[in-house]
Amino acid sequence: MTSTFDRHPNPPATSASVPADGVETFESLDPATGDVVGVHPVAGPEDVALAVERARDAAQWWGALSFDERAEHLLTWRSVITRRIAQLAALSRSETGKPIADAQLEIALAIDHVAWAAKHAKKVLGPQNVSSGLVMANQKSTVEYKPLGVVGVIGPWNYPVFTPMGSIAYALAAGNTVVFKPSEYTPGVGVWLADTLSEVVGGIPVLQTITGLGPTGAALCTSGVDKLAFTGSTATGKKVMAACAERLTPVVIEAGGKDSLIVDQDANIAKAAEAALWGGMSNAGQTCIGTERVYVHERVFDAFVAEITEQAQGLRAGGDAGAHIGPITMPSQVDVIRSHVQDALDRGATAVVGGIDAVGERFVQPTILTHVPETSSAITEETFGPTLAINPVRDMDEAVRLTNAGKYGLAGAVFSKRNGMEIARRIRSGMTSVNGIITFAGVPGLPFGGVGESGFGRIHGPDGLKEFTYAKAITRQRYAPPLNLTSFKRTVRDEKGLNLIVTLLHGGKKTLKP
Ligand code: NDP
Repeated sequence: MTSTFDRHPNPPATSASVPADGVETFESLDPATGDVVGVHPVAGPEDVALAVERARDAAQWWGALSFDERAEHLLTWRSVITRRIAQLAALSRSETGKPIADAQLEIALAIDHVAWAAKHAKKVLGPQNVSSGLVMANQKSTVEYKPLGVVGVIGPWNYPVFTPMGSIAYALAAGNTVVFKPSEYTPGVGVWLADTLSEVVGGIPVLQTITGLGPTGAALCTSGVDKLAFTGSTATGKKVMAACAERLTPVVIEAGGKDSLIVDQDANIAKAAEAALWGGMSNAGQTCIGTERVYVHERVFDAFVAEITEQAQGLRAGGDAGAHIGPITMPSQVDVIRSHVQDALDRGATAVVGGIDAVGERFVQPTILTHVPETSSAITEETFGPTLAINPVRDMDEAVRLTNAGKYGLAGAVFSKRNGMEIARRIRSGMTSVNGIITFAGVPGLPFGGVGESGFGRIHGPDGLKEFTYAKAITRQRYAPPLNLTSFKRTVRDEKGLNLIVTLLHGGKKTLKP
């Protein structure tokens, strides 16, 4: 294999790497303390182009492996991550501020996805027979799913392992190599992932991490990758899509959300409140599929608010080991959270837990608002903080209508004993959990993705594997055709034969009355 592996002037970072003199760098900081966690190079367009070139070389080897061989490498990687989970969780905590147990939870889910993608790629993507139908009965028809080549992945900081892994693991299992641009807030985690896979595959750059700020991501969009999988805010997703359009690079957009949790009158109120609290507050509310709105049947509204207020007592944000939630990772988000809470209060909402004083400099204490006007930004925009807006509804029709009224359509939850499935099906979103919260994310066989301004395309499951491939259809002639249709030697007999078959097949009894 001809290789450009040795030509990289600014090799994709390794966790031990110290950027060379003269290389522009940036710091990743501990959001709880402001301490410097690491210093990383800013990859410029040239570095990105070289990383993609190296990935293209590596794809010749990786893409030519059998599904079983690739699975073996990926399952080894899965075991390496598992055995070093404490190391990775500590790094994630230092870059995001989240509690160690939360960091471990997202890594555990990501590990499960690596294993699922590795084990199922062959069955989902390998050659499959397709019925040829009567007209083409002499053909053997197959479809198989081929890797695209090099996939660019751009990730956010809120779940720096789980979220990009939903693209990385599935793209790799499908036979692509990956160039990954992590968030500028979590570059160390991105580097750690690439380093450990590199150990497994003997240094071949099957997965490279390029570190940098927004322009590094923008350079990846126009670098000629064969697909770009973006996870992040809707606003950046639009820029990514526009940049990718230049080269007709296909995109997956996993963007923001404003999910609701619906509580029906027959729901288990204690369990619904517990779920809403965790869905809204865990990870300090910095979860794309987190709960931001709650619509409660008016008959159980007071009981629900009393219950969740009670359960929220003692729930605390902080930097110490005893705190339930950590800091706001991205400093600028604190202003957004403050403005949403203020806007809701200005328009007449009530704070039953927390309030405007709960929004500090680095930490936001849990805040629960009720009777929040549907036009306020706390209802219409992604808040991405530990806040909940709880409103009463007359019935489940109203709950569904208000849920579907927003521009996002990522996920959501329903609590109801009798009508959970029926309500779930009416919600315009990619994923819904019934009598549970965010449970779909832990089922590797289920697709993950949104509609509307939450994006499009799917990661996870069979859909997630196919997302990083192209379908290849092949027909092979098994015996000479009884009717010679695709030839200038076609006869009248062939044409009559076709007419006869088509009439038999499709003429049927269903026709218009004269
Ligand atoms: P951003 O949109 O700010 O950033 C996402 C990534 O895009 C980062 O790596 C960022 O780099 C990069 N980027 C920034 N500008 C550009 C550009 N012009 N071209 C290409 N890439 C660019 O999102 P956040 O990191 O703040 O993540 C939070 C958002 O992610 C929330 O909206 C959340 O809902 C969403 N999200 C969606 C998920 C889903 O599956 N649907 C899952 C998780 C989060 P840099 O950090 O250096 O600026």
